[in-house]
Amino acid sequence: MPATVWISLTLALAALVLGFFFHRQRLVHLSVLIALLSAARLEATMGHYAAAAVAFVPWLCLVVAAVPESRWLARPQLSLMLVVAALLALVVKAPAHILIDVTRLFRASLPGEDPLVGAAWISVAAVLLCLLRYVLRAAIAEATAAISLLLVAAAWLRWWHGLQADTLLAAAAVVILLGILYGSYRMAFIDALTGLPNRRSLDEALERLGNRYTLAMVDVDHFKQFNDSHGHAAGDIVLREVGALLRRHSGGQAFRYGGEEFCVVFDTQDLARAMEGSERARLALEKTRIRVRPAVSGSKKLSKPQDVSVTASFGVATRCNEHRRPREVLAVADKALYRAKGKGRNRVESGR
Ligand code: GH3
Ligand code: MG
Ligand code: MG
Repeated sequence: MPATVWISLTLALAALVLGFFFHRQRLVHLSVLIALLSAARLEATMGHYAAAAVAFVPWLCLVVAAVPESRWLARPQLSLMLVVAALLALVVKAPAHILIDVTRLFRASLPGEDPLVGAAWISVAAVLLCLLRYVLRAAIAEATAAISLLLVAAAWLRWWHGLQADTLLAAAAVVILLGILYGSYRMAFIDALTGLPNRRSLDEALERLGNRYTLAMVDVDHFKQFNDSHGHAAGDIVLREVGALLRRHSGGQAFRYGGEEFCVVFDTQDLARAMEGSERARLALEKTRIRVRPAVSGSKKLSKPQDVSVTASFGVATRCNEHRRPREVLAVADKALYRAKGKGRNRVESGR
């Protein structure tokens, strides 16, 4: 038996374990199916087990793509696990004639003449379902599932080309592993609300700065009051817009520092240029009308869409002989920010 089968089996099991720890149910189920298919390939010819895998797994792929993610013990997840367990028990324990009859029934339900081509079509339908979820939710796990299922579809078509099918199944498992790792990288370094790099990214970026940089600390004005009158959901929309405007207009790299505070790193020691970038972003924010739907007080309902605007204050500081370390420059920018607040907000102040 070629080592490639064991490789795809091992990778699928690794994807299953990682998926479980990161609560990626769809990817866990998909890893189980890839592991079952890899195990079926241990059978040299199309025996009972491989025939059963060809008949059952495509439909399971479709179910896995369709079932919404929830708690492990919620009904859809439990039902899916029970179905997989029942089919496995059938394959392992049922008398041969029963397995053959059930397999034939499932096989007949696959579209087209060739069951392997039919299986590929069903997998492609599962790919489309995951892509639709990805378009609606922009979740990396859905894109990962779609790519992995596409490789499974290709594996059906290359089933009789030994090494190629094994490699495609191994690749399907690798896609799951990489998708989970990429998702966790984003969780660690990207702020989920604004899509900007987060505080951890900023801390690392500050350590890697050379000598030429200027920092701006940005704080949304009277934001507590904004939340109090429009609700937190509206506040979140505003923060997303503030992040986008900083990225687009400041001319530096914007980070979400935390709460309603941002930090912009300018790749220059030219304070005037960084002040200009900050002023551009401040003005853009002041002029922008942001569409929100405030919560109706005392109820979970949303009122009619409403255009709102917010302002922000900026404190800018550059590296100089007195303040050589990023932390010191950040502290000076912070002082400048509080000066901007003291002078009435919605302005850019510099510090030295
Ligand atoms: P100032 O002009 O002095 O900065 O006043 P402020 O009200 O903006 O400052 P304060 O620090 O009192 O309030 C900050 C508010 O930001 C409080 C908190 O509810 C809100 N906030 C922090 N993070 C988030 C978030 O992720 N979403 C929303 N909607 N609000 C947030
Ligand atoms: Mg603040
Ligand atoms: Mg504030």
